[in-house]
Amino acid sequence: MIQITMPLNFLGTVYREIRQALIDMAQMFGLLSQPAEVRDRPDAKPLHVPHGVVEFRNVTFGYEPERPILKGISLTVPAGGTLALVGPSGAGKSTVGRLLFRFYDVQGGSVRIDGQDIRDVTQDSLHAQIGVVPQDTVLFNDTIRYNIAYGRPDADITQIEDAARAARIHDFIVSLPQGYDTQVGERGLKLSGGEKQRVGIARTLLKDPPILLLDEATSALDTETEQDIQTALRRLGAGRTTLVIAHRLSTIADADEIAVLEDGRIVERGSHAALLARQGRYAALWYRQDAEEAA
Ligand code: ADP
Ligand code: MG
Repeated sequence: MIQITMPLNFLGTVYREIRQALIDMAQMFGLLSQPAEVRDRPDAKPLHVPHGVVEFRNVTFGYEPERPILKGISLTVPAGGTLALVGPSGAGKSTVGRLLFRFYDVQGGSVRIDGQDIRDVTQDSLHAQIGVVPQDTVLFNDTIRYNIAYGRPDADITQIEDAARAARIHDFIVSLPQGYDTQVGERGLKLSGGEKQRVGIARTLLKDPPILLLDEATSALDTETEQDIQTALRRLGAGRTTLVIAHRLSTIADADEIAVLEDGRIVERGSHAALLARQGRYAALWYRQDAEEAA
């Protein structure tokens, strides 16, 4: 009996983690299912992430062979650093995220994590090392406690509460009559977009992955929620390698590097200050968004 249940429990945990990551990714990138063509190699090894350096080396990719989407992208996110991708809609930003998660294989070049080509590692191990925070976290029809602990069911209540505190959602939770036992989701309490996102951040804090893929909210939240979320995201990102797909430039000004993607090419890169001084594409996007937010 023990021989049977132990591996099943183990598979259960891994399965939950992968399922959660896949649901978040699907939600984040508008994918309904994992494309079938990506398979583990027979000799695939587990990914090892001692540092967390993420690298795109001269990556080319298209969903259809006759229509290239990424036309030779090179990016490095240093260990524990933050790289923000910005650019107009349709430029290929989400595609970069999909390739990091290996929803598709590159057609040229490679995606590497700590030097390992992600085509050479198992997808389970890859997905386990990447935390995804989409702008609209999927909640299960269960308690808040379950929703935060999802992907790490062995977490105790202290760990769950610590994660919720760091994600700036603990005070809200304890203000509810049922606290952490409140039922949420379609058949329970409906949470606002900002609350759901903070539950997602708490969930990812518990998962504790070395690499993060963030999709920022496109629409403006109220100022207080926005500040809470920015605080929560900064805590989550501390010490983790972070790739942010940014829509609102005001939130990424302190990224280590910002890359501007246009029509599948990186047309500018640098710090916020350097890019503003350059008076190029990024500066134009920045001043336009500033004017829009003021209006
Ligand atoms: P961004 O995130 O910068 O708005 P995307 O990476 O989502 O851009 O999309 C880049 C281009 O790839 C767009 O022209 C889009 O229509 C196309 N595209 C995205 N997903 C698919 C898909 N599954 N099949 C075919 N084309 C796609
Ligand atoms: Mg996108």
